[in-house]
Amino acid sequence: MLAFGSNQGDRAATIRAALEALDAVPGIRIEAVSALYETPALKLTGVDHDAPAYLNAVARIHTALPPHALLDAVNEVENEFGRVREERWGDRTLDIDIVDLDGRESSDDRLTLPHPRAAERAFVLVPWLDVDQDAVLTGHGPVAALAARATDTVTLYVEPPAQGGAS
Ligand code: ATP
Ligand code: CA
Ligand code: CA
Repeated sequence: MLAFGSNQGDRAATIRAALEALDAVPGIRIEAVSALYETPALKLTGVDHDAPAYLNAVARIHTALPPHALLDAVNEVENEFGRVREERWGDRTLDIDIVDLDGRESSDDRLTLPHPRAAERAFVLVPWLDVDQDAVLTGHGPVAALAARATDTVTLYVEPPAQGGAS
């Protein structure tokens, strides 16, 4: 499972384009995508209602790539969409996290699986339920139970109608 977040630029378009770019990588197939959800920005100092809100989504993938090659691919797509890495948890055009890879548990200085903060993030757990209601997060239990416990607020995002259409 991959989690996408964007709080700069055309957030929905960026997430859609990133999904397409990943699907085009040999060895990665996007199998299912959640709805988009909106989430207030979380900074190291807490929720920041003055910062632009995030759009979040998750996607179930099938991949033949080893975990670090998947992380390389994900980092390339982030770079392609102009992510500038400044402060930790700072505003960004695109963030892609590897939430879970077939229940694998591993950790080194580049990659921890499952993602160490997924268990408490409604903006990951709630969209995950869209894709798989019976999902289980390795080491933490059913995603539905975790989502019920998470304290951040996510709202289903309805895209505004395109401007300049027929009237
Ligand atoms: P958070 O990890 O809390 O969501 P973030 O996404 O803002 O924060 P980044 O700056 O995008 O953090 O990533 C920091 C580092 O996390 C990256 O350099 C990456 O190597 C590492 N990392 C470890 N585990 C994972 C994972 N499961 N998915 C993505 N990156 C990971
Ligand atoms: Ca993240
Ligand atoms: Ca990240």
